[in-house]
Amino acid sequence: MNDRLQPAGGSWYHFRMTEQTRVAVIGAGITGLCAAHELVKRFGAGSVMVIDAADRPGGYAHTERAEGFLCDSGPNGYLPREPRLTQWVEELGLGDERVRANEAAAHRFILKDGRLVEIVGPPRFFVSPLLSVGGRARLLAEPLIRAKRNGEPESIWDFAARRIGPEAADTLVSAMVLGVFGGDAHRLSLEHCFPRMAAMEREHGGLFRAMLAMRGGAGGPMGSGGVLTTFRGGIGALAERAAERLGHSLRLGNKATAVERSGSAWRVCLQDGNEIESEFVVVATPAHVTAELMAGLDAELSRACATIAHAPIAVVCTAYRREDVSHDMNGFGFLAPPNQAQRLLGCIWTSSVFPQSAPEGWVFLRSMIGGDIHPEDAALPDAALLGHVAREVHPLLGITRTPEFVRIYRHRHGIPQYRLDHGDVLRALEAAEARHPGLAIAGNAYRGVSLNDCVASAHRAVQMIAPA
Ligand SMILES: Cc1cc2nc3c(=O)[nH]c(=O)nc-3n(C[C@H](O)[C@H](O)[C@H](O)COP(=O)(O)OP(=O)(O)OC[C@H]3O[C@@H](n4cnc5c(N)ncnc54)[C@H](O)[C@@H]3O)c2cc1C
Repeated sequence: MNDRLQPAGGSWYHFRMTEQTRVAVIGAGITGLCAAHELVKRFGAGSVMVIDAADRPGGYAHTERAEGFLCDSGPNGYLPREPRLTQWVEELGLGDERVRANEAAAHRFILKDGRLVEIVGPPRFFVSPLLSVGGRARLLAEPLIRAKRNGEPESIWDFAARRIGPEAADTLVSAMVLGVFGGDAHRLSLEHCFPRMAAMEREHGGLFRAMLAMRGGAGGPMGSGGVLTTFRGGIGALAERAAERLGHSLRLGNKATAVERSGSAWRVCLQDGNEIESEFVVVATPAHVTAELMAGLDAELSRACATIAHAPIAVVCTAYRREDVSHDMNGFGFLAPPNQAQRLLGCIWTSSVFPQSAPEGWVFLRSMIGGDIHPEDAALPDAALLGHVAREVHPLLGITRTPEFVRIYRHRHGIPQYRLDHGDVLRALEAAEARHPGLAIAGNAYRGVSLNDCVASAHRAVQMIAPA
């Protein structure tokens, strides 16, 4: 540790401390925590320092526990598709804490003309009212549609309309995009949001053909299935355990303000006036923060990160006594496609999916509001958000009373939106990483937003700075 007599925090009376470490990780969300876990395995605990601006770890992956309810403020689970996430969970000793979604979660609904319609596969699909007869016929014609070969960026909606018809694009695909990205299918890049779907057309000529070719293997357009999984204490348990294992290597409540080059080392400047000097740095902050941190180092990199838009989102958790809800609640929840002119993106029936998340005899819901379609809604005051829930959720579920328990979480930079120029953004980012050996940019803003993708991003960063 170097202590230099310099002004820090605006005062001449402070020593500015420069701590040295092998790797500095900025951001202790799931990406940063996973990267740090892997780096500790490679370099040892004393060689890694993780800093986060917040006073708790996990970023969006956080669970508030109140009055017997587990309130996940962001993600509520992961699909065990990424072996490196499963391995991390096991290495953290959380294997026995895992909770798989109830069977009810297999029933998922879409709001159509004021009622909930279950999404079903064949043969029930053929008689489902979700699409008109013409819409169903058009979807079934998918194998006859020629593959697009020009390689031009295409929106998710254009792809879906071309392959399975505009009605299915509006109803099924737009709803799915809201569910994953809180986004608008017309504005998001298929290649970057759903790379597997793009690959199915590229490699097999179409979705049905690809599914036939992969029968019994890797699953559908969204990847292999898998059952949504959380932990006994909610998804926040993952971050809490990871943080606990990092011990003193994790410093909370201190914001990074800049990343600079200092001779052959990296210098991370902190809000408290101190600095960290390291051989490597992993920047795992949200893209708009990464843009600020990089502004003095590399204008192009900073610009690329700043162009990534984020959909704001409000998560409204409400609970009701079972007798005040007439619906059977046998399901995962529902999505409200944009063509239904609702303010709500969707609603997860949390107590049906994960019964341990609520006390016995209660119905516990998570309603999502805002997203890229109604971004302004995410910042509404509590009463207005609860008003949307009362108008748009209560009648569908036969809820007769106001909620007896409420928690609301607003995420101004909720979910990154990979727009049609996202390929250019990634190329700029990769070029910058090549210009700055020892620097890795990671997180949910680049190559996937799920927890699985964050873990993959963490491993990419670790591999870049310390190839196995
Ligand atoms: C409402 C919602 C629901 C979701 N549901 C799911 C789901 O069910 N399943 C799923 O797989 N994914 C889901 N996601 C996506 C997933 O939760 C996120 O993509 C993921 O948690 C992002 O992790 P991250 O570490 O990349 O970023 P973040 O969680 O944003 O972490 C970044 C960290 O950087 C810190 N930081 C910021 N600025 C600074 C600074 N200047 N200095 C130091 N630290 C700083 C922050 O405090 C934060 O801890 C959901 C997201 C949202 C918003």
